[in-house]
Amino acid sequence: MRFKKIVIVGAGVAGVNAATKLVDNGFPGKNITIIDMGNDPYKRKPEEVMTGFLGAGGWSDGKLTYHTAIGGQLSKYVGEEKAMKLMDEVINNFKRFHPKPEEVQCSNPVEEPDFIKPYFGLRLFPVWHVGTDYLHEIGKNWYDYLVSKGVDFVWNERVFKVDFESSLVYHTIKGKEGQYAIDYDQLIFGVGKSGIDFAQEIQDEYQLETEPKSVQIGVRFEAPQKHFQKLIDISYDFKLYRKFEDKGVSLRSFCTNNNAAYVAVEDTYGNHSYNGHAKKDPKYRNDMTNFGILMEINGIKNPFEWSRKVVEACQANKTGLYYSPDMTRNPSLTSEGETVSAWEISKYSLANVRHVMEGYFEYIEDFIEDMKKVFPTLGDDWGIYIPEVKYLSPEPLVNYNDLSLSEYPDVHFVGDALSARGITVSGAQGILSVEKLISKECPWDNIQGDIINWK
Ligand SMILES: Cc1cc2nc3c(=O)[nH]c(=O)nc-3n(C[C@H](O)[C@H](O)[C@H](O)COP(=O)(O)OP(=O)(O)OC[C@H]3O[C@@H](n4cnc5c(N)ncnc54)[C@H](O)[C@@H]3O)c2cc1C
Repeated sequence: MRFKKIVIVGAGVAGVNAATKLVDNGFPGKNITIIDMGNDPYKRKPEEVMTGFLGAGGWSDGKLTYHTAIGGQLSKYVGEEKAMKLMDEVINNFKRFHPKPEEVQCSNPVEEPDFIKPYFGLRLFPVWHVGTDYLHEIGKNWYDYLVSKGVDFVWNERVFKVDFESSLVYHTIKGKEGQYAIDYDQLIFGVGKSGIDFAQEIQDEYQLETEPKSVQIGVRFEAPQKHFQKLIDISYDFKLYRKFEDKGVSLRSFCTNNNAAYVAVEDTYGNHSYNGHAKKDPKYRNDMTNFGILMEINGIKNPFEWSRKVVEACQANKTGLYYSPDMTRNPSLTSEGETVSAWEISKYSLANVRHVMEGYFEYIEDFIEDMKKVFPTLGDDWGIYIPEVKYLSPEPLVNYNDLSLSEYPDVHFVGDALSARGITVSGAQGILSVEKLISKECPWDNIQGDIINWK
């Protein structure tokens, strides 16, 4: 049998699931090279939130959502039934490498509770919760498996150029002069959010056709968990939502973390924005809840530039902002005991945030006001980290059956680089991108990639 040389850029959720699908189906690991600018799961440090084995997913809260309406557009590509099957495969992979798979909890609300009506709707879907600390163990087991299958990992090297015409991937090599190129027959491009500027560069360079995207921006809300317990008992990762169709705006609570819940700083383009994660180990318990309040805004002309401009304007003293009414609360501690980096602002400075968000921030304030009605003990016992953002760079047009670029069928965009937004969808896209390569009809060549010294 003859095999192709596959290069995967990004050892994130998408790239790792793609490699796993290949080797599980007899594709030789030695023909797969994965290049990542982060560390392997044994060397990755807690502060390396976005890079390294399993990417942002490896240090996330590990909430595996199981619904096509959440995170990206998988069913648009493959239809509902196939999308669910792909997500099953991803969830099974996480369980398979879990040291205690029986501890993965599933929350599956089936009915909207009356007490949230008429203010909010609640999205009903199952979610498996793994927890950050178990993810680290999963990462190590998963990595060991791929290494045992012969997959070649290149760590701490940044890919800075891809030449689609000559099928070459250029990456740095630390400690050595010059830069190096590796050739591919098939390229899986899964650089996630930490590589979004690079993905954008490539799209611009090759003038790839794209699909229009919305703006996704908001805040990370944090409060003591007791105020939300009634809803958490029904749905761990509750998704409250509301829509203003005539204004092109919808809002949802997003990525809820409970029990041992921590706010995480994301560093993109040199600016701070916020996210959250939760630990499983009871020693980290802080009885806090945090979640994003995210707006999806349609109709903004250059959504990517607009989001970047807003994020840049919501910085002070080289970090993001924190607001709590009458300074009732302060930024909380990270799981390492450091104060979450954020500049505290008063209600007067909040006027600037309203200004830069061009009227959209009021939707978030209304959302919070209505939460105070639904969760009566909440009052002013909360704080928000500003901003939380999902940069959706324009999504390149791909062939829906294998996510390859319409003009470059050997190059597959996957995961957050294809606007996936989430672990299960990103992993599912990774699997989809390689399915055709393991089908019997594919004519494979046994080509070992050559390293070319390029100066
Ligand atoms: C704090 C946090 C918590 C989250 N919690 C959840 C959650 O609970 N549930 C959920 O569904 N989603 C969550 N997410 C989102 C989820 O992690 C991502 O959607 C998912 O990991 C995307 O997968 P990916 O493979 O596309 O990218 P990633 O997993 O981000 O991986 C991309 C990889 O590419 C590498 N890379 C980037 N650029 C280059 C380059 N130029 N050269 C070499 N390597 C490069 C990076 O080092 C990284 O390892 C969270 C994200 C964060 C940051």
